[in-house]
Amino acid sequence: MDRLNTLLEHNRAFVENREYEQYKTDKFPGKGLAVLACMDARLVELLPKAMGLKNGDAKLIKNAGALITHPWGSVMRSLIMAVYELRADEICVVAHRDCGMRAVDPQRVLEHAMERGVSEDTIATLRAAGIDLDGWLKGFDNVSDSVRHTVQTIRNHPLLPKDVPVHGMVIHPSTGRLEVVINGYGDEEAPAA
Ligand SMILES: [Zn+2]
Repeated sequence: MDRLNTLLEHNRAFVENREYEQYKTDKFPGKGLAVLACMDARLVELLPKAMGLKNGDAKLIKNAGALITHPWGSVMRSLIMAVYELRADEICVVAHRDCGMRAVDPQRVLEHAMERGVSEDTIATLRAAGIDLDGWLKGFDNVSDSVRHTVQTIRNHPLLPKDVPVHGMVIHPSTGRLEVVINGYGDEEAPAA
């Protein structure tokens, strides 16, 4: 059976057996948190469990590297919505050790795209149109520095109220241990880990 049908078969049983009942909640985050985390597959269950979050506790935004690539992109917009419309009043940025976005090489990503059928012409056209592919595809060298930078981007955003604490953390992808990089209450930085 293909993946979609496997998934749908599971879904039918899930709904029929009313397995959703244990997850019932509303759209407002019970713990008042908005969390920006990496999409890493190891964190699917580990991150909420390690942070003591259950369904309904937080707005969870995920992408590659827990990064904000643009202050007017969809991640920042989601955080703004979470704060003003959905009652989140603290933000946590949670990156992790051994992230696939560390030292990612944009040129290698483009080579992989070409191996999969994207033409060199297309890439040249995008570059000629002024799209900064290398900047857009790049990751980070140091996870703690990246978290600091992301926290600063959020904190300095002109539409974010100043009374929203923004914390920065790094989670270990096997133990779930959290290291605080920025404590959003006191502006104290933990020693670089
Ligand atoms: Zn990652």
